[in-house]
Amino acid sequence: MIVVEGAPTIGGTTAKSAGAYWIPNNQFMRAAGTTDPKMDAIRYMVRDGFPARYREDLPNLGIEANEFALIEAYYDNSAKIIESLEAAGAIRSVIAAVYDYFDHTDLNKAPRGRALVPLKPDGTWGRGSELVHQLKEWLADKPVKFLLKHRVTGIERNAKGEVIGLAASDPKGDTVLLRANKAVIGVKIETRPQSGPLKGTTQAAVVEVSPGSPASQSTLKAGDVITKVDQRSVTSANEVVAAVLSHAPGDKVTLTLSDGRTVDIVLGSQPSN
Ligand SMILES: Cc1cc2nc3c(=O)[nH]c(=O)nc-3n(C[C@H](O)[C@H](O)[C@H](O)COP(=O)(O)OP(=O)(O)OC[C@H]3O[C@@H](n4cnc5c(N)ncnc54)[C@H](O)[C@@H]3O)c2cc1C
Repeated sequence: MIVVEGAPTIGGTTAKSAGAYWIPNNQFMRAAGTTDPKMDAIRYMVRDGFPARYREDLPNLGIEANEFALIEAYYDNSAKIIESLEAAGAIRSVIAAVYDYFDHTDLNKAPRGRALVPLKPDGTWGRGSELVHQLKEWLADKPVKFLLKHRVTGIERNAKGEVIGLAASDPKGDTVLLRANKAVIGVKIETRPQSGPLKGTTQAAVVEVSPGSPASQSTLKAGDVITKVDQRSVTSANEVVAAVLSHAPGDKVTLTLSDGRTVDIVLGSQPSN
C-alpha cells in the first residue's frame, strides 16, 4: 500500500485538529452502561445536520433516502471501525468528558460518551496530532510506503476507462505513475553474455514461460531471445521488464525475437508492490 501525500508530513488537517471523533453507540459508552439506540442517534444527526428539513412524521425524517442511508451507515459502522482499530492496537481512545455541540437539545439522548479522543501513554488526552502519531506508529512495521511531497495530479485509466492508478508530481516536479497493478507478460528472462564477435554484449533470453500467463497464449517459448519490445531495443532482462512496466495491464505489446519472429501479447496484471 502507498500513501501519497503532497505535504512534507502526514496527517493533514487531522493532525492539526482537536482530534475528537464522534462515534455513536461506541464500545466505551456500552462499557460505561450508556445506551445509544439507533433511532435516537439518527434523529439527533438528522435534526442537527438538516435542521430546515427535519420532520418526524415524514419518511426518512424528511431528508433524501440516500442522505438517510449515509447517516444510518455511519451509525452502523463507525463504532465497528473504532472497535477494530482498537483491537488491532492501532489507536487507543477514551471518552472525552466534553459536551456535544448540540447537547442542549431535547433529541440528545446520550449527552456523554459519543465524543472520543486519543489516549496518550501518560493517560492524558491527545489531539489530532496524537491520533496521526498512533496510526503512523502502528503502520511502521506494515508494508505501507509513505510518498511525501508527492502531489497527485491526475487519475490513470485503461482503455476501458477503468481507474488503474494515479499520476503524481514528485519533489523534483517530475511525473511518476503509481499503478495499483503492474503489467506482466508472464515469463522468466535472464541476461546472457554473448560470445563470438558479439562478445562483451548481452541479450535477453526467455528461460521459462509461466503456464496460464499472457505469454503462454502466444508462440513465445523458452530459448527465444527478445531483441525489441515494440520499437525499443532490449539487450537485458531489466530492459525488457522496464519496457513492459511502462505499459498498463491490458495493453498489447509486440516482441521482436532474434530469429525474426514477432509476437503480440496482451499484458496481464499483477498487484504492484
Ligand atoms: C483547529 C481544528 C480543529 C478541529 N477539530 C475537530 C475535532 O475535534 N473533531 C472533528 O471531527 N473534526 C475536527 N476538525 C475538522 C477535521 O480536522 C477535518 O474535517 C478533517 O481533518 C478532514 O480530514 P480529511 O482526511 O478529509 O482531510 P485532511 O486531514 O485535510 O487530509 C487531506 C490530505 O490530503 C493531502 N492532499 C491534498 N491535496 C493533495 C494532492 N493533490 N496530492 C497529495 N496529497 C494531497 C493534504 O496535504 C492532506 O494531508 C478540526 C479542524 C480544525 C482546523
